[in-house]
Amino acid sequence: MSEILLFSAGLDSFPAWHYLGKPPILYFDSGHYGGQQEIDTVRVLAAAHGMDLEISSELDLSRRATPQGDLIPFRNVLFAMLAAFRADVIWCIGVKGDHTADKSPEAFARMSEMLTAFAGRSIRVDSPFWDMTKSEIVAWYLKAGLPVDDLLQTFSCATPGAAFTHCGRCPSCLRRWIALANNDIDTSGHFASPPWNWDRIRTYYLPTMARGVYPAHRVEEFHRAMATVGITRHDGPRTPREEQ
Ligand SMILES: [Zn+2]
Repeated sequence: MSEILLFSAGLDSFPAWHYLGKPPILYFDSGHYGGQQEIDTVRVLAAAHGMDLEISSELDLSRRATPQGDLIPFRNVLFAMLAAFRADVIWCIGVKGDHTADKSPEAFARMSEMLTAFAGRSIRVDSPFWDMTKSEIVAWYLKAGLPVDDLLQTFSCATPGAAFTHCGRCPSCLRRWIALANNDIDTSGHFASPPWNWDRIRTYYLPTMARGVYPAHRVEEFHRAMATVGITRHDGPRTPREEQ
């Protein structure tokens, strides 16, 4: 039974490579925004750790990409289809609470069923981290005695500036910072702008978290990280409209 890990160079997929026992990794150079920084990071990590890496350019999604770094609809389905040419078990990293249309336990079960039917052999699309949050994945990584410096070399920004710079003002950077802060990892100088100062924290995240839109574990980890920089759940906007 062959396996392959869809590798993004991010804060989840690098620990996943260790967690899964260092399987071959596959990166799709699909032309999405910020892709060059990802490719550079993938190459650096692969060279430093002796990863069995394939960078594929067989999928060009550049015409679907936006400067805002929006997710490309059902791209994980496309990735899984192409990965199924190579392996029977396709690891695509989703974490606890992920619920986009193409990244959830249910979505991966559907992909497995569809690909198995078309391939004529058993194909499994899965994530090892459905029961773990990003903070818990980082905690596992540290507990395994793996180096913090390697983890900080990973890349997870949707709208990067110069090479290897995390903007600190996008949802990916925010989630990255939360996971690092909740594990007492020093992020001084790691983000171009401190994620906790992003205006969306006060205008969107604090009021939205208060409304119960996010799962309880996301809310708890968000507030735990914010508390490390002195921001409480009462620091959101207090306009009359918000209080209705
Ligand atoms: Zn960012």
